[in-house]
Amino acid sequence: MNLQLSEILEGKQTVALGGHIRPDGDCVGSCMGLYMYLKEQYPHLETDVYLEEIPKAYQMIERTEEVKSQIPADKQYDLFICLDCGDERRLGFSAPLFRGAKQTFCIDHHVSNEAFAGINNIVPDASSTSELVFLLLDKEKISRPIAEALYMGIAHDTGVFQYSCTSPETMEAAAELMRKGIDGNDIIDRTYYEKTYVQNQILGRALLESILVLDKKCIVSVVDQKEMEFYGAGPSDLEGIVSQLRQTKGVEVAMFLYETETRQFKVSLRSKGKVDVSAIAKYFGGGGHVRAAGFSMTGSSHDVINNVTEQIALQLEA
Ligand code: 5GP
Ligand code: MN
Repeated sequence: MNLQLSEILEGKQTVALGGHIRPDGDCVGSCMGLYMYLKEQYPHLETDVYLEEIPKAYQMIERTEEVKSQIPADKQYDLFICLDCGDERRLGFSAPLFRGAKQTFCIDHHVSNEAFAGINNIVPDASSTSELVFLLLDKEKISRPIAEALYMGIAHDTGVFQYSCTSPETMEAAAELMRKGIDGNDIIDRTYYEKTYVQNQILGRALLESILVLDKKCIVSVVDQKEMEFYGAGPSDLEGIVSQLRQTKGVEVAMFLYETETRQFKVSLRSKGKVDVSAIAKYFGGGGHVRAAGFSMTGSSHDVINNVTEQIALQLEA
């Protein structure tokens, strides 16, 4: 898609940016990268960014203190740009602003995205939304803080340049961003590898309690509300657990679920090989990518695990 940002912004005075609920590194990176670019390069525009609470580690990205976590009453934006979000529901609290905007634009890389905005730049093969934002910007005009945000997003969604979604173009984007004078290692250390004591404790617990099913091709682990309360952990402390589970030798699919405050289960799936977990997530009303997807489900953990492993088994047997 040969999109020009300047064309989309033509005639606009007010622009809102929004990402998905429980924002991850790519969501924060892509939103903040584009937000800072608009602030710096289009100062005449009134630009706001809306996100749910940003995990502490990602707050090292500049201007995250300007992020709005509540929407104003009766505000209509000329343009709403939706980033890293595969469907309107996942916008969460900012969805009414999306619905009310005069024009909408979506930049995303989820294979489950059904082009729900007015203008859509959906590239399922792209490593990350941050890489797509990079491609939309004038390279000369990318400042160091913008580069830091986009680099964080790309590094997170590629598992630090290791997942199969990492393409030569991804590495070229990362190289260009490095030339903006960022400390890439520091960003990765502080936002990706560094874990709090609580995060390590709950990770340890999840690994210890994990079980192998489906002829040891699938690994499953659950954390319930009681355990989260015991360790003092919130949902953002559980990021990375499912990737660690996937590293188990011989396993093809990893499934991690945790109980939310509303007594639902948030399920994360990761695949190493032939199983398309986005199809399974879609079947249960969620979405994502071929090798990383998720959804929410009600019922006992036992039932959720049974229902999901049944779908995984169907694919493993195919
Ligand atoms: P995670 O397991 O880390 O929450 O998410 C893995 C991938 O699946 C991410 O790209 C995320 O956006 C997507 N995903 C996770 N949960 C949901 C969901 O409930 N609905 C949709 N549409 N996508 C999800
Ligand atoms: Mn992403």
